[in-house]
Amino acid sequence: MSNVTGKSHPELAADFNKDEPRVDWHDETLWWVRAKRDIAAHKLPEWELLRETASQIKHNVLSNLYTYLQQFEANAQKNGVVVHWAADAAEHNQIVHKLLSDKGINRMVKSKSMLTEECHLNEYLKEHGIDVIDSDLGERIVQLAGEPPSHIVLPCIHKKKEEIGDIFHEHLGSAKGESDPKILTETARQHLREVFLTRRAALTGVNFAVAETGEFVICTNEGNADMGAHLAEIHIASMGFEKIIPERKHLGVFLRLLTRSATGQPITTYSSHFKKPQEGREIHIVIVDNGRSIQLGREDFRNSLKCIRCGACMNTCPVYRKSGGHSYHTAIAGPIGSILAPNLDMKKYADLPFASTLCGSCSNVCPVKINIHEQLYAWRQVIVKEGYSPASKTAAMKAMAFTLSSPVLYRSAGKMGRVVFKYAPFAVNNKLNPWYKHREMPKAPEQSFGEWYSKRKEGQN
Ligand code: SF4
Repeated sequence: MSNVTGKSHPELAADFNKDEPRVDWHDETLWWVRAKRDIAAHKLPEWELLRETASQIKHNVLSNLYTYLQQFEANAQKNGVVVHWAADAAEHNQIVHKLLSDKGINRMVKSKSMLTEECHLNEYLKEHGIDVIDSDLGERIVQLAGEPPSHIVLPCIHKKKEEIGDIFHEHLGSAKGESDPKILTETARQHLREVFLTRRAALTGVNFAVAETGEFVICTNEGNADMGAHLAEIHIASMGFEKIIPERKHLGVFLRLLTRSATGQPITTYSSHFKKPQEGREIHIVIVDNGRSIQLGREDFRNSLKCIRCGACMNTCPVYRKSGGHSYHTAIAGPIGSILAPNLDMKKYADLPFASTLCGSCSNVCPVKINIHEQLYAWRQVIVKEGYSPASKTAAMKAMAFTLSSPVLYRSAGKMGRVVFKYAPFAVNNKLNPWYKHREMPKAPEQSFGEWYSKRKEGQN
């Protein structure tokens, strides 16, 4: 998602926070999903072993990426699949466009793919006269609302059922005021059925691509990827190059982790394997870099490429739950998005690694054991060093460091602060200081800890 508003994370979070009941409901709903994840994880005695195994498999993949990608390409080609390589988002979009325009196709059905969000494929194809319909229910809702997804697994988690009812009434002709989820789902079903039956092309994402066999796996709860791919004459699968796993048996590790971490389900409803095209049909895979090679070369951040996009780090993050996915102004929101985005554009996304309490809850739930909070902390240091933090913040931090490094200055600043707090609190607590928007002014102590301690010691002597 491009940040069309030009606002930073704190500003967008402040916008989201204007509707307090929505914030509470968003927070509670995601925490409920996190609790379901905990129950599912605790039911498996081998959970920690699975996490460690998955992390090590991905470590192996990232260390031997070139070999596995080539093996995958060779096996996929043997299966009759056409493999394309895209260096960046622009090349990915051009490849997809060419595949469609060569066949004279101007309408395509798409199942959920965060990579296409990252590449802004829908906007690109629309500019070129191609109509894309998102077929995942949540994705379709946000598409009709003209918004990007706010969560990688639950794209419309920020919307209430009444709002969805209004959107469906406006675009799909459901009854005004209808907000029964069953009726709304049936409305979407009827609408999408026509789309599936009439589109000649389908695009899907890829959850796992198996180097050993050249097949790939897509996980959905709605079966929309299968429906689209099996009815269309051309199936295009877009995958980031980190989606490779070495062998088919490794699916047993990742499939057990993915949905338990995402929604607390033991398994995704559909784990669909695609290997070769049906007779008279085509399968194309577009393998995309788009900055991943650069991230691979950043030692402190390369582990972020282990991500299997389960969304657990978002569900648990207190900042994400309270600020909403759109406040991150990037395709992938939340803690992992805040690590991936600065790699693409350090200046534009310099605010994101600071959108964290560094509590470490994200790292605790990550099924592939990414050290998320440590990477967020590392990004902060890089961003400050590269000069991308706001000038006022950098100056304030330098003044703070200078003061803290001198005991004399520190004592004087403390004394001055106590006087200001006592006699002129408005100098600190005013509209210009966002810190006090939701906070009470603390009562100024009469003396510093040092003064209290010295007096106490004197008294004892
Ligand atoms: S970083 Fe970990 S927890 Fe977050 S989405 Fe990726 S795999 Fe899931």
